[in-house]
Amino acid sequence: MKIICIGRNYPAHIKELEHELPAEPVFFLKPETALLRSNRPFYIPDFTQELHYELEIVIKICKVGKCIGEKFAHTYWDEIGLGIDFTARDLQRKQSEKGLPWEIAKAFDNSAPVSRFIPKSQFTDPGNIDFHLDLNGKTVQKGNTNEMIFSIDRLISYVSRFFTLKHGDMIFTGTPSGVGPVKIGDFLEAYLGDKKMLWCRIK
Ligand code: MG
Repeated sequence: MKIICIGRNYPAHIKELEHELPAEPVFFLKPETALLRSNRPFYIPDFTQELHYELEIVIKICKVGKCIGEKFAHTYWDEIGLGIDFTARDLQRKQSEKGLPWEIAKAFDNSAPVSRFIPKSQFTDPGNIDFHLDLNGKTVQKGNTNEMIFSIDRLISYVSRFFTLKHGDMIFTGTPSGVGPVKIGDFLEAYLGDKKMLWCRIK
């Protein structure tokens, strides 16, 4: 399986990082070894001094597809969860300045904690789902899928032009504003609507 991560998909987050609005979706990959499941703790790696959380809606692909038309894309995903796209912001900045790839800043081991998944059918409108992240009990990120620049179906259509999507692949759909650093001892809790889906102690 593969993990596809969308960058720059919420206007307020693009503003906070001082990026330009993208004309096409921006994406990168994380390997399977990036997954951190079952709400296990996250250990800050020694290569970063600036580890950021990015809470994201994650969707799971349910069948093989290539060059999927946007109007058929909804039949290629069936489950929704939450994930954190942990980012070594200092390394990302360094790589970006030199025009180098982001993998060392984004795709390292355990950089993708994911929650359990809920069937899409349990949501009346997947295009209107609230989600938020609490850091030590205080809400730091709040988003709704209706704020996405590129909808989930548009993302699936675009990504599948370049990569065949397979059953079990995950797409991290981008983070809303409010990203920030974590330190040892912090506790992250992520909610889909009012359902607590994911939590993670920082060690
Ligand atoms: Mg992200």
